[in-house]
Amino acid sequence: MTVDVLIAGAGPNGLMLACELSLGGIRPIVLERLPENTKENRANGLVGQVVRALDRRGLYERLTGGAEPPRPSPAFVFGAMPLELSRLDDNPMYGLAVPQRRVEQVLEERARELGVQIRRGHELTGLTQDEDGVTVEITGPEGPYTLRTRFLVGADGGRSRVRKLCGIGFPGVTRDDSVSIGAHVTVPAELVDAATGGLNVPGYGPIPPFMHHRTDHGLFVYAPFPTGTLVNTTEWHRDGGGDQPPTLDDLRESVRRVLGADLPLGPPDGDGPHLLRRLSGGNTRLAERFRDRRVLLAGDAAHVHSAIGGPGLNLGLQDTINLGWKLAAEIHGWAPPGLLDTYETERRPAAERVVMHTQAQSALIAPGPEVTALRALFTELLRDERTTKHIADLMSGADIRYDLGGDHLLTGRPAPDLTLETENGPVRLAELTRTARPLLLDLTPEAALAGALEGWRDRVDLVVGKASEDAPAALLVRPDCFVAWASDSPRLDDKEGDALRAALTAAFGAPSGAGG
Ligand SMILES: Cc1cc2nc3c(=O)[nH]c(=O)nc-3n(C[C@H](O)[C@H](O)[C@H](O)COP(=O)(O)OP(=O)(O)OC[C@H]3O[C@@H](n4cnc5c(N)ncnc54)[C@H](O)[C@@H]3O)c2cc1C
Repeated sequence: MTVDVLIAGAGPNGLMLACELSLGGIRPIVLERLPENTKENRANGLVGQVVRALDRRGLYERLTGGAEPPRPSPAFVFGAMPLELSRLDDNPMYGLAVPQRRVEQVLEERARELGVQIRRGHELTGLTQDEDGVTVEITGPEGPYTLRTRFLVGADGGRSRVRKLCGIGFPGVTRDDSVSIGAHVTVPAELVDAATGGLNVPGYGPIPPFMHHRTDHGLFVYAPFPTGTLVNTTEWHRDGGGDQPPTLDDLRESVRRVLGADLPLGPPDGDGPHLLRRLSGGNTRLAERFRDRRVLLAGDAAHVHSAIGGPGLNLGLQDTINLGWKLAAEIHGWAPPGLLDTYETERRPAAERVVMHTQAQSALIAPGPEVTALRALFTELLRDERTTKHIADLMSGADIRYDLGGDHLLTGRPAPDLTLETENGPVRLAELTRTARPLLLDLTPEAALAGALEGWRDRVDLVVGKASEDAPAALLVRPDCFVAWASDSPRLDDKEGDALRAALTAAFGAPSGAGG
């Protein structure tokens, strides 16, 4: 038996890709070397455009447990400098404070609902490729076996075995000059500022919550998440502490060095699992290629970087949303030539931008008087709304524009959050995209586009409706919710019709025979 797609790794990115492929009509198998879900929690939240992307799959509601759509965050932080986002007209920064463990749980539930087979305790150990597929060696609970697959995706994390077996280099830098200690703790209630939710540290002063706070001696974070209060420090040029797990005393001493004041930290309340972790140094690396013939890389397997500003899941989950429909199209046989290669041409620049801004932020939080001066300059620059918007676009990933040709401003960008009046009543575009089907939105006054889909009806759904006056008249939306073509014209003239057919062909292949 040949499997259509094997995914190595049931981390967030492997699971998300499995969901996307299933929505595209492919049943992947996911291999996960760990026999049980990990107890480790990495991310404390989702930051950026990924929040909108999850809303467009109905996953935001599952994560929040409510029906409210996402709203932009009024504030965030860049390199431990506050970003006042509420003053922006078009604020692109979304956030959702939810532990990575919960994200993985929701994605796993969804993948299982969609019929994905997840094999836990099955480790990929080898692979060989030929023209038609990949033979994958696996060690499972009952011993070694092989599986044949048409495509393999390595979503197996930063140390990706898949990447190494394909001989794909992972150039970049490793820094070993910083040590971070993070722990769930309790702090005396009288030190918590009722108005801001931040801390008033005796002998130091106020510290806002959920913000990186830099001093001349290091970085301090106080983050009272609903799931536990996190305190984290980062110091530079210190002994890393070896492999010994840290103690709460280690954290107390580090806080004293960073703030120059004592903060009485107590052990965490409740059942846990509680975090007490030391991380030394870090890697910033980008895979030389995201694809080697029938093997593709996604998520941390393709790129690693500092976690500052929380960009990891924003990048990785959007990789998989970009890849899923293209891989499904390739397997169904309707992908236009080169579509699968656009995974790398579209997503590598996104990864490069993350590498750039995380390295820039790392430079801006380092100790030293030159850095303090640089920060003073940045603080001045951030008073300008345009600079704040530029940084917010960069950090949220809203500045990504795929090269899809066309001259409409929306082409190549994520579709706007429209509410459409349809014959079934008002509906948010984010509700229509949950099937992950390509959509042609006909918002023209007289529903002028009905005939335009002839030849693509098997692949593309037509939605007729009305939207607000500033909305475009028509939009072709890819399954990843990026705009492939848009028009402001109330009628489809010959030129617009040709452009639409060109966009349909470029994204979804040649038209099929009469009637589609
Ligand atoms: C301390 C820390 C804090 C972070 N904070 C944030 C944050 O706030 N926001 C954010 O967005 N991101 C954050 N990140 C980054 C985020 O955690 C990662 O980007 C994310 O985990 C990557 O997911 P992944 O699925 O690509 O890889 P992973 O989560 O590493 O999953 C890979 C999976 O593959 C499995 N695997 C490995 N090898 C094999 C094999 N040979 N066969 C089968 N299975 C295999 C592993 O067991 C694992 O389950 C943080 C990271 C760290 C370390």
